[in-house]
Amino acid sequence: MLDSKSLAGIPLRPANAAAAAPIFPWPNPYGSAMFLSFDVDAESAWTGKDPSHAERLVTMSFGGFEARVGTPKLLELMDQLGLRATFFITGWSVEAHPAMAESIMRAGHEIGHHGFHHLTPDPHDPFIQEELERGFEVLKRRLGVAPKGYRAPSGEFCEELRSSLVRLGITYTSSFRDDVRPYRHVLANGAPGTIELPVTASYDDWLLGLTNRFSPRPIFPREHVLSIWKDELDETRDWGAMVTTVLHPQCSGRPMRLRLLREFLQYAQSCPDLWIATGEEIAGHFAKHEAAAA
Ligand SMILES: [Zn+2]
Repeated sequence: MLDSKSLAGIPLRPANAAAAAPIFPWPNPYGSAMFLSFDVDAESAWTGKDPSHAERLVTMSFGGFEARVGTPKLLELMDQLGLRATFFITGWSVEAHPAMAESIMRAGHEIGHHGFHHLTPDPHDPFIQEELERGFEVLKRRLGVAPKGYRAPSGEFCEELRSSLVRLGITYTSSFRDDVRPYRHVLANGAPGTIELPVTASYDDWLLGLTNRFSPRPIFPREHVLSIWKDELDETRDWGAMVTTVLHPQCSGRPMRLRLLREFLQYAQSCPDLWIATGEEIAGHFAKHEAAAA
């Protein structure tokens, strides 16, 4: 609510107290980086917004495309290009589609935590702890994985989440939109938080190529998206910085979008200065330089 009391409650300081991102060199011979990552929400992308979508079978089928077609096609593409990526998966998706989750694991990709029901971690949300705990439990039981990375469903964060992730053993997060280099979060009590691998908003395919009754958006043609993605990448390479993709199998696993992604990744692979890596690799590189600089 916009009233003088709520306005008076806005702190007069930056929302993110993290220090500036340190400028470490990328691994030799690279001068820039791409964190190649996917968010596997399946149907929980829809039920996380409204549980009654569970009975809307065509709405659910947008998510169901991931297990039937999208994820297998993306895994095939990664294999063809010889790329390893990070897949942030919701616990619900692992429970409902165990064969899909196992196929990602078997292909050698990194598995990250993406909540359980894909609920947005809004401040004071009563489900924050349960979403985290159920997500960890399923990844462990079904896949034998203790994830190091976490991406917030719908890309929202709050202080409670920031400190809980450290307590639960997460070493890196990838949700914030406020930098072009990795940096270290700081908790409200001044203790170190996770390493942040900031998201590049223009690489969220959902915003450019998925439309639905409950998420109506324009769909952009290949030439427009390639132009955005190449410009973002080339300028970032000039800066010696990093980009982070947020790709969804229910969007980028569709034929027209897969063609576009293949062309973009082939372009990225033709850049000799670009390190294409998983979140664990980039966070590990940051941690090594941070320790050496201490
Ligand atoms: Zn998601």
